[in-house]
Amino acid sequence: MISSAEIQARLERILPTVQKPGRYTGGELNQVVKDWASVETHLAFVFPDIYDIGMSNLGLAILYELINQRSDALAERAYFPWIDMEAAMRKADIPLYSLESKFPLKAFNIVAFTLPYETLYTNVLSALDLANIPIFNQDRGDTDPLVIAGGHATFNPEPMHAFIDAFVIGEGEEVIHEIIDTYQIWKQSLALRLDLLIRLSTIPGVYVPSLYTVTYHQDRTVNEVTKLDQRVSFPVRKRIIGCLPPPPTRFIVPNIETVHNRIAIEIMRGCTRGCRFCHAGMVSRPVRERSVEQIIQAIDESLKNTGFEEIGLLSLSSSDYTNITELVKTVADKFSGKHLGISLPSLRIDSFSVDLMDLMMESRHGGFTLAPEAATEHMRNIINKPVSNDQLLETAHQIYSRGWTTIKLYFMIGHPKETLDDVRAIAELCKAVFTQGRQVIGNRAKLNVGISTFIPKPHTPFQWEACDRVEQIQAKQELLKHELRHKNIKLSWTDPKVTLLEAWLSRGDRHLSEVVFQAWKNGARFDAWQDQFNFDAWSQAFNDCQIDSSFYTHRNRTMDEVFPWDHIDTGVRKKYLWQDYQLSQASLTRSDCRQQCFACGILPTFAEIRRENPGDHWMCPEVKSPPRSSAYKTR
Ligand code: SF4
Repeated sequence: MISSAEIQARLERILPTVQKPGRYTGGELNQVVKDWASVETHLAFVFPDIYDIGMSNLGLAILYELINQRSDALAERAYFPWIDMEAAMRKADIPLYSLESKFPLKAFNIVAFTLPYETLYTNVLSALDLANIPIFNQDRGDTDPLVIAGGHATFNPEPMHAFIDAFVIGEGEEVIHEIIDTYQIWKQSLALRLDLLIRLSTIPGVYVPSLYTVTYHQDRTVNEVTKLDQRVSFPVRKRIIGCLPPPPTRFIVPNIETVHNRIAIEIMRGCTRGCRFCHAGMVSRPVRERSVEQIIQAIDESLKNTGFEEIGLLSLSSSDYTNITELVKTVADKFSGKHLGISLPSLRIDSFSVDLMDLMMESRHGGFTLAPEAATEHMRNIINKPVSNDQLLETAHQIYSRGWTTIKLYFMIGHPKETLDDVRAIAELCKAVFTQGRQVIGNRAKLNVGISTFIPKPHTPFQWEACDRVEQIQAKQELLKHELRHKNIKLSWTDPKVTLLEAWLSRGDRHLSEVVFQAWKNGARFDAWQDQFNFDAWSQAFNDCQIDSSFYTHRNRTMDEVFPWDHIDTGVRKKYLWQDYQLSQASLTRSDCRQQCFACGILPTFAEIRRENPGDHWMCPEVKSPPRSSAYKTR
């Protein structure tokens, strides 16, 4: 195997020939470099996109810091090189390597991919290939690294089942330690790789796809998923942690400009709003909050450790954080005059949110973001995001009046039962918001409108729904483009073909792994990049594999259809999701479940872990019923 010294020497020859060589050198402030020989287990985190994107991934930052606190393990990082660098590496025979030590990925014991979204899948194959690690899990031997993956895209792991040895389902803070411990025990035992896989599959929250088999009906829907060994879990229940540990504070400071050069502090995890299209909202339940003191302390330490000038206080719904006013006031008092940029995303559409931002912002640079998602009451009832247009207009008025010149509005098209009138209403509402701005600040008023497209995601109440066809999406986008032509209104939208790809991959079954492989062979790479996205490679791949792509996207499902992801248990019951879907069909909403619990299944599923971690950081009501079973016991 090539040595790290040789990789370093070859890198020095090629780096002057590629764009942004700082992506490939490591050596940043706060990177952790340990002595390889004195550490038992070596783990490489791989974000399968370029450094500029991957450096902002909070999940990776959390786990990097946690593992490097162990004396018997180390974690290093690798990102996928941009096209020029990949070509140069292949020409110079440099395999994918870690930034810290320049060891080839193949030399690591564990290679862990972070997969927050599905359009990274083909880059996983590229990364394995560039690392000289067999692409298919069945081809890996005892001396190959264990290849694992985690992140929101792995809540339906099946399209990647042929490539990944083990998936982490849910939160990784505890389970990553258990994987390392298990790996160490297995290594000392000198047993075969299969023994490692079986041991891993008994860890709660770990899914080893090769230990399950799937049978299909003639119509191609799933008949049954069966485990191949009595010891493995079925279903595989997601992992959660009972209490959020102190957030990372030693963020790596990149030497080049990246997407977010900032301190990211997660103020709470989970969401109780129940928007029916929202995958993150459903799979990250229950809500657990961090204390104000913990957050302030983390900001303090991170500022000292990094020198960053921007802080992101992250959550799915910041206005719902219980002590939000206290938090914002404390941040404002403590850090005023330091010229820090502080962002508080995902605010509710009301004047309370404007007050919060007002307290925190020393200047009004940047826009104020709101996400109404739909523009008619009927549509908002269907998606369960009730907010009135009057409320939006009043909030917009407040924002423009208090000195912001730009409002960013996010809408989604393609919702179930949506008509062109619902889409036209989006344009009308945008114009009305813009008019508010014109009335308050005249020609300085600006409006940015982001239009995404609905994908019926697994584990949500809309998982039974079909997607719009490309022509339908195009017609809706054209309508908006036509209606919203003004030099101070900026409209952005998603390529309908990218939406289609995301829908195929997020709703796929095991057959999709053939398509992913074929598309990669046909040249699909960097699918998340508009200028690199190669739709023909995917269409051709479906043809090559003789698979009808519309099966995954353009048909409604019956109540009793077994989904490819049903053996992955998020704690939210399928029955609850179906009931919620029926409410949607009847245009009925459910209130925020902090006000009233709707028994989604989270309470009994995680009753034990909650008992073991008591405290007021849990936002679901008290557990009254006995636990369904041990929080993580296999069935
Ligand atoms: S258990 Fe109740 S309060 Fe908690 S997430 Fe589910 S519905 Fe909401």
